[in-house]
Amino acid sequence: MNVLIVYAHPQPRSLNGALRDFTVQHLEAAGHHVQVSDLYAMQWKTTIDAHDAPQRDPSEPFHASLDSKRAFQSGTQRADIAREQEKLRWADTVIFQFPLWWFSMPAIMKGWFDRVYAFGFGYGVGEYSETRWGDRYGEGALSGKRAMLVVTTGGWASHYSARGINGPIDDVLFPIQHGMLFYPGFDVLPPFVAFGTSSVDAESFGNITRALGERLDSLATAAPIPFRRQNFGEYDIPALTLKDEIAPGKTGYAAHLA
Ligand code: FAD
Repeated sequence: MNVLIVYAHPQPRSLNGALRDFTVQHLEAAGHHVQVSDLYAMQWKTTIDAHDAPQRDPSEPFHASLDSKRAFQSGTQRADIAREQEKLRWADTVIFQFPLWWFSMPAIMKGWFDRVYAFGFGYGVGEYSETRWGDRYGEGALSGKRAMLVVTTGGWASHYSARGINGPIDDVLFPIQHGMLFYPGFDVLPPFVAFGTSSVDAESFGNITRALGERLDSLATAAPIPFRRQNFGEYDIPALTLKDEIAPGKTGYAAHLA
């Protein structure tokens, strides 16, 4: 299997750095091919702007979607963006690893999504009409591939439990897992979350790596999160609301799980 790890932590000698090294070694020992996009080490350009479409007409106002579409379609994107898209095409499975910062991913990784998911690649794929609203949420350029988050948090597991003050971890991660991974077609595996990592000793590090190793061993076989697919009869199009008979009475994120 080809595995791409998109990784965001500024310090190699960190818990995340150690978990990244463990993951690479574990996967390679199992015979997988691994590439790592170490975003801080690559000095990844975080912001999307006019420099991302070098061939654009500078007399026109920059438009993040349209300029991205033109650059993608004409093969004139910046090389760093095209390289990451090529890694995604190569990968069977993509792991996104990061510390939870302000209930989301570090900005550098958000900038990876903003720029690598070009119009025509990450979104704007397929037919848009009164009866069809693109190939997305379960279909798209990345369908057939698997993705999994590996996340460390300062907050404890109880803080992210069903009635925990931070909100359930599945809700916190929903915009990433559903909106950024399922949207362009990934099958999204349940996340690996190491909670309460502000202080980790040798024993707890051993427990974390043991559990992570088990998840890595089942990357190809684990059942994905059963997000409902957009174009398979459960949503009215183009309103894109769940049909009345689907999950009646349910609202919010959980309604979009089969
Ligand atoms: P480190 O700080 O590197 O280490 C954590 C522990 O692991 C330490 O005890 C360290 O000694 C130990 N360790 C490091 N390396 C090793 C190793 N090789 N082997 C064994 N042990 C090791 N948390 C939340 O829950 N929600 C938030 O919204 C949130 N927002 C944040 C926003 C910011 C800007 C920041 C800086 C932190 C935030 N946090 C939040 C906390 C953050 O998620 C954790 O600090 C982070 O996940 C810990 O991962 P790390 O790799 O940075 O750990």
